[in-house]
Amino acid sequence: MSNLIPAEVLHITETLEKAGFEAYVVGGCMRDMLLGKEPKDWDVTTNATPEQIQELFENTFYTNDFGTVGIVTEDAPASLKVVEVTPYRTEGPYTDARRPESVEWSKDVHEDLKRRDFTINALAYRPKTGESIDDFHGKQDLKDGLIRAVGDPHERFAEDALRILRAIRLHAELSFSIEKGTQEAIQAQAGQLAKISKERIRDEFLRIVQSDRPMEALQLAHQLGVLSFIAPELEAGIGIEQNQAHKYEVFEHNLRALQHAADKNYSTEVRLASLFHDVGKPKSRRFSHEKRDWTFHGHEVIGARMAKKILENLKVPRETAEIVTKLVRWHMFFSDPDKVTLSAVRRIIANVGRENIEPLIDLRICDRIGTGRPKEQPFRLRKYQAMIAQALRDPISVGMLAIDGKRLMEISHENPGPRIGWILHALLEEVLDDPTRNTADHLEKRSLELAQMSDKELQAMGEEGKERKAEEEEASIKEIHKHFHVG
Ligand code: ATP
Ligand code: MG
Repeated sequence: MSNLIPAEVLHITETLEKAGFEAYVVGGCMRDMLLGKEPKDWDVTTNATPEQIQELFENTFYTNDFGTVGIVTEDAPASLKVVEVTPYRTEGPYTDARRPESVEWSKDVHEDLKRRDFTINALAYRPKTGESIDDFHGKQDLKDGLIRAVGDPHERFAEDALRILRAIRLHAELSFSIEKGTQEAIQAQAGQLAKISKERIRDEFLRIVQSDRPMEALQLAHQLGVLSFIAPELEAGIGIEQNQAHKYEVFEHNLRALQHAADKNYSTEVRLASLFHDVGKPKSRRFSHEKRDWTFHGHEVIGARMAKKILENLKVPRETAEIVTKLVRWHMFFSDPDKVTLSAVRRIIANVGRENIEPLIDLRICDRIGTGRPKEQPFRLRKYQAMIAQALRDPISVGMLAIDGKRLMEISHENPGPRIGWILHALLEEVLDDPTRNTADHLEKRSLELAQMSDKELQAMGEEGKERKAEEEEASIKEIHKHFHVG
């Protein structure tokens, strides 16, 4: 075992032992080592107090209220930069399902292991003596692929509801099953999740999404009553049948799209966008007697707004949320072959940003696989890729125009102000239609014509006009819904 433990960690346990303390490597790193996986971080537990630990090491800091001391090794790899050393603990009563009322140090490593969440996380190893501790048969559970609470599962989840999400996250990351009694306790205690902070829910949720098996994990989260504390909007898709292009109802379709993103190891943004891409469908479903099928007009507009709200609520970083929202908003683009003209591709690149056009294609692939009836031919996607490559060479932003604000002011005698921006955007609109118009000659001539226009006319053509288009779009969807007396 010691030969699997990095030198940085062995140095810490040796230093503690030389000073007369006991030191065990413990927790998730033991689990991962025994599974042959690279641990994300390393934990040591000891009978030294936080003060005694701090005296023994040069570069240390307190990481939380539970006596954990972080030991810093600047030039170590990421997983070893901070090794957490925690005194043996026993915990006082929990009153809020979040953290113990009080923390007491213990003299006994066995006491410390009792307060850990799962048997596979309650293994300890003492490098000095080679002693292994496995009080709860964690090694057997590791072999059997089982996540089992230490002690009475009901009590353990009632004490700290975060353990519920940790169980589901470990299920996703390790492909382990959750033992039956532990599942029952999760179901019974799920309501306690209301007391867990959004940030902690977010951390576990993102790890589920980033795992290899997010679909199964979120399905289980739903079955156990946990998903409603993460994103209840997804559950509105249960029982929502779709049109004939789809084999699955909305909930399962979203999950299958996400699973394909995981299978392809796509980015977190594409995974989240896949999961939420059709979240607006339950609210936009109408039956068309003409088509004799369900329609979902505007679901991408409604869905983008919902995805934004869900991600904000979960305190997902703003940049991530913005990308996901854009991808959801425009995810219908590549699904409608009539829309995919070269000038439309230029516009979609202008809308989602150059860096998000490939992710948008990835999302399209996930959406298609998620229907269970992937009828689209790969050659169409290849054709789209070629069009994108072409469009990316064309001017698609104001900065790429053959005229800039300074030159514009010179020739048109316009003063600095919003009119300059409007004119440049109006020029861009023309160049998006036809890139051959991007010459200084042509744009200067057009600038002079545009400069004759009133503020109002210009505004309608420029940036403001674009924003208003989005608002009008939403308004018109509301109208459609009113018309059908729903929504
Ligand atoms: P990973 O490092 O991959 O996120 P981990 O299980 O190591 O997984 P850590 O947050 O590093 O998670 O925690 C280290 C150990 O501390 C766990 O293995 C477990 O023994 C214990 N632990 C962490 N969180 C809890 C909790 N909420 N309740 C009880 N024990 C916990
Ligand atoms: Mg860990």
